[in-house]
Amino acid sequence: MTASVTRHDWTLAEVLELFNQPFNDLLFQAQTVHRTHFDPNRVQVSTLLSIKTGACPEDCKYCPQSGHYNTGLDKEKLMEVEKVLKAAADAKAIGSTRFCMGAAWKHPSAKDMPYVLKMVEGVKALGMETCMTLGKLSKEQTEALAEAGLDYYNHNLDTSPEFYGNIITTRTYADRLETLSHVRDAGMKICSGGILGMGESLKDRAGLLIQLANLPEHPESVPINMLVKVQGTPLAEEQDVDPFDFIRMLAVARIMMPKSHVRLSAGREQMNEQMQSLAFFAGANSIFYGEKLLTTGNPQADKDMQLFARLGIKPEEREEHADEVHQAAIEQALVEQRDSKLFYSAV
Ligand code: SF4
Repeated sequence: MTASVTRHDWTLAEVLELFNQPFNDLLFQAQTVHRTHFDPNRVQVSTLLSIKTGACPEDCKYCPQSGHYNTGLDKEKLMEVEKVLKAAADAKAIGSTRFCMGAAWKHPSAKDMPYVLKMVEGVKALGMETCMTLGKLSKEQTEALAEAGLDYYNHNLDTSPEFYGNIITTRTYADRLETLSHVRDAGMKICSGGILGMGESLKDRAGLLIQLANLPEHPESVPINMLVKVQGTPLAEEQDVDPFDFIRMLAVARIMMPKSHVRLSAGREQMNEQMQSLAFFAGANSIFYGEKLLTTGNPQADKDMQLFARLGIKPEEREEHADEVHQAAIEQALVEQRDSKLFYSAV
């Protein structure tokens, strides 16, 4: 296979062959592809903030935010716009270039949309890339988000279409694909990936990657999550994933979607530094840091930076405004939000 070819016609047999080759051969291939398209010593750094936590009507079996399970999670209403912008400014100050905002909704309501749009505009004005995950979107909502300046929309496929019904029954796979298609049509970038450790087979892992890679355009960002087992969820007692199998998943994702950022996502806190460095070698080049990853813990920013320093890795930069322009943009965004009537009233 040519290392740098971008394809959209992967078959199950081919992908299983990638998975089943000796570990060192797979990693060598993945690293070769990675070096063709990326600086191997740069990792993109995002911060994730939960802007609305818990009481979600969906029944995703892995998720502590689902209202179907009792996980003892404190439920919170939609955060005020000002607080979100303060968190974004803090994230920027510790080197984050993308600010991802997640809400535990089936879909955003008409009542919430104006606040969400203000958040996008405000974070954008700080000079950061913006990303949101709000559930299913209508065409109109997608267009409004794009117009407000949303760069990325996160909507995970989670697993293969065949295994999906074992994990979620309240939203169909076709619904998910439709939202991804709206996001593309509105000109935004897609962040979409899945989770390992839910009891899926190797075929299901391959099936998920085939769904993602065979989209008309590859998602720009592909988060690969390790299940974080939370007491109270139906998957709390699932078996651990073999760490080498997780690394294989990252490597195969890198080979199949050579130009995408592959994100080492939830579950990173359970991984030791050796495993994380192997993940970077396999082609993972994006992480969340510095804030809590939705409702589960995430290693602290300084610990991450220490690991980066030991590995000679630097955070990926994005084009910045000059410092003064940038500072002025931050201040203006905060003043505008303070004067706005769109503060969310959490009553
Ligand atoms: S994963 Fe998202 S949609 Fe599913 S229950 Fe959790 S918050 Fe709701």
